[in-house]
Amino acid sequence: MSIEREFFEAIYARHGHRCPMSTLGGRLGRAAAAHVDSLRRRAVYHIDTCALDGIRVATGCHEIRVLDEGRHVLDLVDDRNGRGVRVALRPEALAIAGEYRRLDDLLDRDRATLDAATLAARQAELARVLDRVLEQLWTLPDEVLLEIAPTELDSVTLLER
Ligand SMILES: [Zn+2]
Repeated sequence: MSIEREFFEAIYARHGHRCPMSTLGGRLGRAAAAHVDSLRRRAVYHIDTCALDGIRVATGCHEIRVLDEGRHVLDLVDDRNGRGVRVALRPEALAIAGEYRRLDDLLDRDRATLDAATLAARQAELARVLDRVLEQLWTLPDEVLLEIAPTELDSVTLLER
């Protein structure tokens, strides 16, 4: 079952650019929302990344509690009882996103030292890698990208900001 492209376009429109992490946020949020059948959902995300915008679009939760613990883990629960689901990015997902990230960081580092032709070539290469990475993150099945488990959050974790 493939996800319609409009879903990801809505994320990028909100986020302001196309990137692997906002895409993965969409995958996390979409998988989590399928398990929490409630209009009153609450989200906790355990790292501060571009994924937040994808999670917002996918879950309708705009007030996400962010715990900056460096873990790519989303808790989405029914606000009424704290029960829901925990979805984490698998190492495979982070490896795919990391390929683009490394290239992007290298280009940032080298940018000032590159002549115009080299800079254009490097930017074109980066754009090609981004297209390939996004295609994978749009289409790979949940089982490859995500780890999904039931969760229950106490009211302290849910409510503290
Ligand atoms: Zn981004």
